[in-house]
Amino acid sequence: MMNLFSGAFLALTASLTPRSGLKLLVALCAMSLLGCSPGDEVGQCKAAPQVPDRQVVIIGIDGLRTDAVSPALTPFLFQLAESQGLAWGRVDVSNGRTQQTYSAPGWISVLTSSWASAHGIVDNSSKGPIKVQTVFERLQSRKADSRSVLITSWRPLYDLVEGRLRALPEIRHAAFLRDDDAAIEHEVLTTWRACQPDLAFIHLDAVDQAGHNGSFDPSDPGYAAAVRATDSRIRRLWENAFASPSAQGALPHRLVVFVSDHGGTGNGHGHYSEAERWAPLLVISPSGHPAVNIRNLVDIGQASLDFIQ
Ligand SMILES: [Zn+2]
Repeated sequence: MMNLFSGAFLALTASLTPRSGLKLLVALCAMSLLGCSPGDEVGQCKAAPQVPDRQVVIIGIDGLRTDAVSPALTPFLFQLAESQGLAWGRVDVSNGRTQQTYSAPGWISVLTSSWASAHGIVDNSSKGPIKVQTVFERLQSRKADSRSVLITSWRPLYDLVEGRLRALPEIRHAAFLRDDDAAIEHEVLTTWRACQPDLAFIHLDAVDQAGHNGSFDPSDPGYAAAVRATDSRIRRLWENAFASPSAQGALPHRLVVFVSDHGGTGNGHGHYSEAERWAPLLVISPSGHPAVNIRNLVDIGQASLDFIQ
């Protein structure tokens, strides 16, 4: 979505305070000069001055049960693991039956490298603020020119993270709230090549919605259809965004993490049954790099920061 005008605009906004720059950006978006996507958002994923040498992409598949990862339901994700000589693993998102298996505590555990007992988001009603730093803030303090993006369609997650992102330079750390997974895919496909952040968290919610509308069960037709559709969506993201070189022709060394936040039973989750508390996990290290070892939900954020360095 970058063009010559927005390149000049970048230089202009660099001279403004973050807030005045944002107001100007919103005004220009309204004039359709930048082709900005509609929606509620903090910051923008600007064109990278240069592609980061190392990049982390965390793809969060909400409500994906471990037994839904299979050649029949997730052919792309299944083969992706096989092609890397890997097998899908699993993590206990309940931290030994002490953390409720809801999305807000789960994702904030991923994004803070800490359990709810530390970050304070114990269920989906927790308003925050998150009590500890997010990976985005920690990344910024480690690497002053770092850039990150979070994309979700789930407002509670957006609101929690946005509360912490306000302290960061908006020109570097962006959060997007989109209508649904299709809009998220569109956002990534249209901006990734130029954006190339150091760290991205992409949250896909359709599987969880299907579980609540029917049953968190691979034999439930609606749930199975949502899992298949999400697998296809990730294949398109992989082939049309992640596998393409940047605008400058480079490909970063990329660590990719696929993970869910909980499973489910019947049409819900939140408790500690086996079907709820285990979430599938796949970690793909770039070739030539040692395997990144992630054993727990709370290892993901730390491993991501350590990989970027
Ligand atoms: Zn749910």
